[in-house]
Amino acid sequence: MPGTESLIPHILVIRFSSLGDVILAEPVFRALKRRFPDSSITFLTRSAYADLHRSNAEVDDIWGFDPDTRSLSSLIRMVREAGFDTIIDLHGSLRSRLITLVGESVTRRYRQQRLRRILLVLRPPLKRSRPLTPVIDRYLETADCTEPSEAEGTPAVHLTEEQINRGLKVRRDLMAGREGRLIVLLPGARHAPKEWPRFHFGELAALLKLGGNTPIVVAPPDQPEIGPELTDGEDHPPLLGPMPDIMQLAALLAVADGVVTNDSGPMHLAAALGVPTVGLFGPTSPELGFSPRGESTSHIHLGLPCSPCSKHGQRVCWRRERHCLLDISPRQVIDELERCISGSEGPAI
Ligand code: SF4
Repeated sequence: MPGTESLIPHILVIRFSSLGDVILAEPVFRALKRRFPDSSITFLTRSAYADLHRSNAEVDDIWGFDPDTRSLSSLIRMVREAGFDTIIDLHGSLRSRLITLVGESVTRRYRQQRLRRILLVLRPPLKRSRPLTPVIDRYLETADCTEPSEAEGTPAVHLTEEQINRGLKVRRDLMAGREGRLIVLLPGARHAPKEWPRFHFGELAALLKLGGNTPIVVAPPDQPEIGPELTDGEDHPPLLGPMPDIMQLAALLAVADGVVTNDSGPMHLAAALGVPTVGLFGPTSPELGFSPRGESTSHIHLGLPCSPCSKHGQRVCWRRERHCLLDISPRQVIDELERCISGSEGPAI
């Protein structure tokens, strides 16, 4: 941030949504605090995500914004009155742009790499497979905090002791009369084309159980009845949820021994909590810059020539079948999970 060091003490970082992006923004706080130890950092996000970084020692203040209960004009007034020296806009939406127009703040804005992304999701042979820069690195670049250490470039979510204890209690209840490792399966995603087939999740649960583990399915927010879809027989894995809020999901994931998830916000949450996590990518791909980071984190992506075919996995498959996900076998997922778990803390599944 050439020439702005003296203006730095009061910094506003903006990223309203979505869950994954809010988590991936975390390395920016650490990098800013390393570079400007005396600065005060305020994070502005959607109210639903405000608690995610509440226990982060690098963030001095968190503002939650809910457009249903607060007007944009009052938020803009609040930002103006706070008199930030620098605003780091990691969102680049119309709303965040309007906020940065007020006052005397120096603004740094996230660049979306739209053209590269459009070329990347075209159908072959038009597709251009030049991967996007990982989102975390683009966030750090926006804040002019390049060359982070490996640990600094890996997002983290911290929980309070109370939240961890709550998670441990849920774990004790879930594991009563059961044994082995607690493996959380997250079969939901914002867009259905991104979901690994439910019957695969069912088979994975059966294999995990055969191996002496305890698989638990957490239902997506809008699908409380998902359980029976995960089996072709009478026995389906225990079902939990949907979780009433994001921190309760975080508390459960934090005490799990492993997580298998579609490419989704909860995938980034599990990875940021340091839990061995396998993310499954199909119509989206790590080339779009959203692969999870972390020592015990991995992903499976078959790399079909047609993938990625949309930015967020929102488009319906233009081929007959979603082979990008269909062809990922439960056995393959178990092997990847085993690698993650053994790499993190000892005996594998
Ligand atoms: S198989 Fe279908 S959904 Fe998957 S990447 Fe190809 S076109 Fe997209």
